[in-house]
Amino acid sequence: MSGKLLKVDLHVHTRPYSPCSTISPHEAIKAAIEAEIDVLVFTDHDTIWPGREIEELQKWAGPALRLLSGIEVSCLGGHFLVYGLESLKGLHYNMTAAELISIVRRHSAAVVVAHPFRFSMEDGNACYNLDIDGVEVDSSNTTPSNRALAGKLAEKRNLPRIYASDAHSRRDVGRYHTLLPQPINTISDLVHSIRQGIRNLRQD
Ligand SMILES: [Zn+2]
Ligand SMILES: [Zn+2]
Repeated sequence: MSGKLLKVDLHVHTRPYSPCSTISPHEAIKAAIEAEIDVLVFTDHDTIWPGREIEELQKWAGPALRLLSGIEVSCLGGHFLVYGLESLKGLHYNMTAAELISIVRRHSAAVVVAHPFRFSMEDGNACYNLDIDGVEVDSSNTTPSNRALAGKLAEKRNLPRIYASDAHSRRDVGRYHTLLPQPINTISDLVHSIRQGIRNLRQD
């Protein structure tokens, strides 16, 4: 494990898989390259990207960017970013966060709570007792008070602080990133990198 850390945007939405987003995957890739992001991770809502579509987009992107995909899962305890799940099997509406996390663990995937405290204090506080791998502490969807609460959660739990754009529009892609160690060529590399518990720094 060496040297240069990679700039990773771990939380980006594109359409049509996230209807709430205004950007196409191609636009997101272009914006990420312009923002000098090394690894871009699509995390569309409750959707697993077909591997061949990511491969096609990777070819289009070229060597300047590594493209990977995860998923943002909505459950009763809020939203969770999951990396390393290959199917939606076992996931369902009205699922608790604990149920989701048990599926994540069975598949050796990684799970980061997205924007804790955004929907309720109760959901955010529940994360003090969940087996998560990281806390998204800042994004384009985070208010100053929620940033402080999320930072405290990461600190008290001694969990990696994740900075990610949660982009739904072109201008937000790459606005926040997490620095992670190399190599990150596959989703397993990414899971490994996140689970190392590296404390990352926000650049901007
Ligand atoms: Zn969300
Ligand atoms: Zn999101």
